[in-house]
Amino acid sequence: MIDFCLKPLDSRSRFSLIANHRCYREKGHDGKCSEYPYLQDLEKTHKKVAQKIKRDSTNTTGAAWASADAGPNRILRWAMLLSDEELRGYELDMSQLRPGIVAKLREKAAPYEDCMQVAMKLTWLVYQMPDAPTPPDSIRRYLETRCATKVAQEKSRWAMLEVEPI
Ligand SMILES: [Zn+2]
Repeated sequence: MIDFCLKPLDSRSRFSLIANHRCYREKGHDGKCSEYPYLQDLEKTHKKVAQKIKRDSTNTTGAAWASADAGPNRILRWAMLLSDEELRGYELDMSQLRPGIVAKLREKAAPYEDCMQVAMKLTWLVYQMPDAPTPPDSIRRYLETRCATKVAQEKSRWAMLEVEPI
């Protein structure tokens, strides 16, 4: 297994201190760091799919949140690891939400690293779909070495994260 570069990346996200964004290219790579190097091709050819992979792996599911008492709609999963008090510092008042909604948001909390793993595996699954584009060799190898054997065993974890079907 080849290690990741993991150099810290700048991010404009207001929750970036919690996420601690990292480079997920291979250790010792040339050129610029990148958080989602394996999405490079889909970003060019199937932008919506690439965006969906990022969104579903890093955000809580959206659905009903956009109602009157909705509060955060599709908030970053790692933000939901913060306490109510810490979230008030981000102007998110969980006490304004119905308990059912709070429970649902909290249930979808996940650390940044877990979300990055899910994004990788989702991408690999997308490339396995019928009619999927063929990934460039470098991306295929990157995903195969990291995802091919693990996906089946981790279905339950995915269910926990409630990744939406593509
Ligand atoms: Zn890097």
